Amino acid sequence: MLPPSVMARLQTDFGDWCHSGLSIMEVSHRGPEFRAVAADLLARFRRLLQVPANYEILLLPGGAQLQFAGIPMNLAGQGERVDYAITGHWSRLAAKEAQRYADLRVVVDMHDTHCRGIAPVDAWDCSDQAAYCYYTDNETVNGVEFSSIPEGIATDLVCDMSSNILSRPVDVSRFGLLFACSQKNLGPAGLTLVIIRQDLLARAPSPFTPSIMSYALQQEKESMKNTPVTFAWYVVSLVLEWIEAQGGLAAMDALAKQRANLLYDYIDSSDRYENLIDPAVRSRMNVVFTLKDASQQAAFLREADTAGLKFLKGHVAVGGMRASLYNAMPVSGVERLIDFMDAFG
Ligand SMILES: *Cc1c(COP(=O)(O)O)cnc(C)c1O
Repeated sequence: MLPPSVMARLQTDFGDWCHSGLSIMEVSHRGPEFRAVAADLLARFRRLLQVPANYEILLLPGGAQLQFAGIPMNLAGQGERVDYAITGHWSRLAAKEAQRYADLRVVVDMHDTHCRGIAPVDAWDCSDQAAYCYYTDNETVNGVEFSSIPEGIATDLVCDMSSNILSRPVDVSRFGLLFACSQKNLGPAGLTLVIIRQDLLARAPSPFTPSIMSYALQQEKESMKNTPVTFAWYVVSLVLEWIEAQGGLAAMDALAKQRANLLYDYIDSSDRYENLIDPAVRSRMNVVFTLKDASQQAAFLREADTAGLKFLKGHVAVGGMRASLYNAMPVSGVERLIDFMDAFG
């Protein structure tokens, strides 16, 4: 969900943006009005994530999955080794895509144990010869989240933070590159945030890399090699303004823990529901659970939907249920879900 105050602001702004008589949907991305939105958005990202001066912030088209290709295309030479940690659905897809462009090595694959935990990093089979080591901070589908940034990896860390970006403070200087699509914690779908250390821009992309996927070129063009998704940029800037007003990333983290703990505690204490994820890596953003009596699942989802509790069906890859508790979800939303779960059946 989006914060209700952002939705209200969008409605008033829609036809007459900043008393210009125009809609944000109608202004040119080259004009001063949109330039100001873009500058404001980049400044907010830099402030909220405390992005060091030697990192560039890019806002790219195509969603997170385009970066599954863009990362090896830009950061690995042809045939060069790249290391991937597979901890769930999205890292597996990222590895599958990267395999087309580089010498892919899977350094750990948690599918052997149904992605219910994360093996310690010193058990990963990493090489200091790899171009980078890739992992997914929060596995949206599986409900598994790293509790901290992996330590002791000699190569540059590359991280997919699509579903937990801006939900806790992060030390950007630990990464070569991190990225996130916009449709979970940032706003509507449309843009992908890429934060990259400057020296990595000098790595020559493979000759077949499309121009809009070249990090160096996009940096030079201020992420406007082609027309940006202006409306999504604007909505994201409003969401970042809302996060700052709530107290920033420490406040988002406190809320995320409060929401998730409420639900995990209820599930753990219940004899009808269960969550089998290792408590050390349970996601604060996506709580997966099942009914011990699986035959009740269809009725659960139907009645939840009628009660206004939407989109609780788990991803097809894992089944069961999933409550996505992104930044804008109030604690009262979780309380309503627990009340429903308690009354069900
Ligand atoms: C949603 C998601 C993606 C895919 O995003 P698209 O923008 O649809 O390509 C990738 N990684 C993670 C962790 C996600 O949650």
